[in-house]
Amino acid sequence: MSTFSVTLPSGETWEPKFVQNINEDTCIGCGRCFKVCPRGVLELVGLNDEGERVKVSDDEDDDEEYEKKVMTIAHQEMCIGCTACSKICPKKCYTHGAATV
Ligand code: SF4
Ligand code: SF4
Repeated sequence: MSTFSVTLPSGETWEPKFVQNINEDTCIGCGRCFKVCPRGVLELVGLNDEGERVKVSDDEDDDEEYEKKVMTIAHQEMCIGCTACSKICPKKCYTHGAATV
């Protein structure tokens, strides 16, 4: 088995690293990764005191429904493996990996 890679116009080989996991314990819900993702892969959610995920809305009153906000992978299949999210994350929450083919 080998890993998926592409040949760039320059002739160089580039191996995309696809998003695999976001560490909920270290994530501070800052939203930086969401802003740089070009593919709509990520979604900010709330975690309530029972560890359940709840929807986050812009309404300030909803803050009471969750303890903290965390980033989650909503559409992993849309990831192109650019690792921009990982590079911008101040808390090193991300795990990425090459795809096997
Ligand atoms: S690797 Fe790129 S496409 Fe994939 S989730 Fe991160 S920013 Fe989005
Ligand atoms: S940049 Fe890192 S800390 Fe901020 S929301 Fe994304 S995963 Fe969480």
